[in-house]
Amino acid sequence: MDPVDIDLASDDHFMQLALREARRAFDAEEVPIGCVIVREGGVIARASNQVETLRDATAHAEMLALTSAQDALGDWRLDGCTLYVTKEPCPMCAGAIVLCRPSRVVFGCPDEKSGAAGGWINLLQSNPPLNHRCEIARGVLGPECAALLQGFFRAAREKKKDQREGHKALRDATGPNGSGDDGA
Ligand SMILES: [Zn+2]
Repeated sequence: MDPVDIDLASDDHFMQLALREARRAFDAEEVPIGCVIVREGGVIARASNQVETLRDATAHAEMLALTSAQDALGDWRLDGCTLYVTKEPCPMCAGAIVLCRPSRVVFGCPDEKSGAAGGWINLLQSNPPLNHRCEIARGVLGPECAALLQGFFRAAREKKKDQREGHKALRDATGPNGSGDDGA
């Protein structure tokens, strides 16, 4: 195996660990995104999206993993670290990543609409004016990462539809002035 093969294999390996975190989010009915941060071949932080659990719109997997990695190293500078995340980081997370200065960011599926690692904008490689630049690898286990998200949103849509139909059935049963939830 040449060095390129070894590197790709280890990106796959660490993205699998990030996917494990994403599945944990899925099981907790959170948008399934997971993140791990690696230094010298070892995982120093792992996190899943916890926006609903913590009732905190900033509790994205990357934010939680960055805080945990800084704790683990006792330093806010994540020099030499690689951050693996299952979906392209949003602008908030990309901004935070640049501040923490990991060397590399590897993501699974792209987010062409609002991604900030080249999808919509590229904050990870905007030096200048930002004072750090990360190497980026895109599309590692991309289809698996995207399938998990698509499965989540499909299930969420179906749940919503079932609820609407449930409300409609209740209205039909109780008449137009019944006690069904007309706000649905
Ligand atoms: Zn984010």
